[in-house]
Amino acid sequence: MSPKTYNVETLLVYSPSGDQYNASVAPLYQSATFKQPSLTNMGEYDYTRSGNPTRTVLQNHLAKIMKAEQVYAVTSGMGAGDVITRLLSPGDEVIAGDDLYGGTHRLLTSLNKSGHLKVHHHDTTDTELIKSKINTNIKMIFLESPTNPLIKVIDIRAITEHAHRVAPDCLVVFDNTMMSPVNMTPLDLGVDIQYESATKYLNGHHDIMAGVIAVRNPKLAERIYFVINSTGCGLSPFDCWLLSRGLRTLALRVERQQENAVKIATWLEDIGFAVRYPGLKSHPQYDLHKSLCKGSGGVLSFETGSTKLSAGICESTEIFGIAVSFGCVNSLISMPCMMSHASIDAQTRAERQFPEDLIRLCVGIENISDLLDDLKTALVKAGAIKQVGEKYIRITSAKL
Ligand SMILES: *Cc1c(COP(=O)(O)O)cnc(C)c1O
Repeated sequence: MSPKTYNVETLLVYSPSGDQYNASVAPLYQSATFKQPSLTNMGEYDYTRSGNPTRTVLQNHLAKIMKAEQVYAVTSGMGAGDVITRLLSPGDEVIAGDDLYGGTHRLLTSLNKSGHLKVHHHDTTDTELIKSKINTNIKMIFLESPTNPLIKVIDIRAITEHAHRVAPDCLVVFDNTMMSPVNMTPLDLGVDIQYESATKYLNGHHDIMAGVIAVRNPKLAERIYFVINSTGCGLSPFDCWLLSRGLRTLALRVERQQENAVKIATWLEDIGFAVRYPGLKSHPQYDLHKSLCKGSGGVLSFETGSTKLSAGICESTEIFGIAVSFGCVNSLISMPCMMSHASIDAQTRAERQFPEDLIRLCVGIENISDLLDDLKTALVKAGAIKQVGEKYIRITSAKL
């Protein structure tokens, strides 16, 4: 049976050995250069910027998991974004979501300011609006779903199908960091380029930075490789090796993370907080998300009504550490306006109805009772809830 027919959980751990000693885990080639068989024959590998066996093993493994023809591993998620924008020509027009990852927003805004690109930011949850904005001048569309921390879901199928029909030269680019290949296969939904920050779920242990770019079209793959080789942003062998190791437990980690996230989101909602999580039936795009993804992920956000109260909660948790990023085995808490989204100015945040008091939870694989206890204790300490008998009640009257 061809390995292509296995499910993702199996593909993640299944590795056909190609090693000369049949090593059960692919060895690490920490080598920058490779000797050539002769002056004219460069051999398979000559220089690690151009190619390295450890990077090849990782990329081939990822290609199966992401259902891609070719995957490239680079030094970070933003590095992947940079490579992708270099496929464009000066003056090209780009449509971007108005709730993209802060770093992506910063990259696109700087390219817009310097005159390299013309970037139009729109609410990509409004499918009809986006459709009306696509014309033959649009060369690239940047999408993300669900966005974070506002957890907006996008109709990727409809937008991609329309873009390909109306603007055949337009590349639809999708950032799948939030869902990971375990929950979504954007290439199956028609996107041209799928990329992810492997710093998050793919590696899962917050010990490396990495980005991956996946495509099906061989010509597009060649153009991407040209940029990576020219700029020298291929992932280092050791980081490739660590990413390969992290990858094997991806399915197990994500499964547990979203199981915990569902319980936490439900508990917070039951108490009366406005919770954003695509796994809750109250999410306005619950059905759309379900039609695109196998699961709802481990990231959720909620509002408390006051930035002071939110800050108090963040500073009172013990297990939930205050840190940016997500997708790691341990749980994190943050206030996006003060942290990950501080690179978006306050006025733009206000225009986009970004709640300043929003708390983001990135749920890990810990024991769910411990996680809930930690949250309860922090919410009580900060004055957001109080315990009455066995129950917790939200305090809403306090002048905050
Ligand atoms: C973190 C992140 C990135 C950037 O990736 P880095 O590895 O931090 O450079 C891009 N998109 C999303 C959705 C992210 O969460």
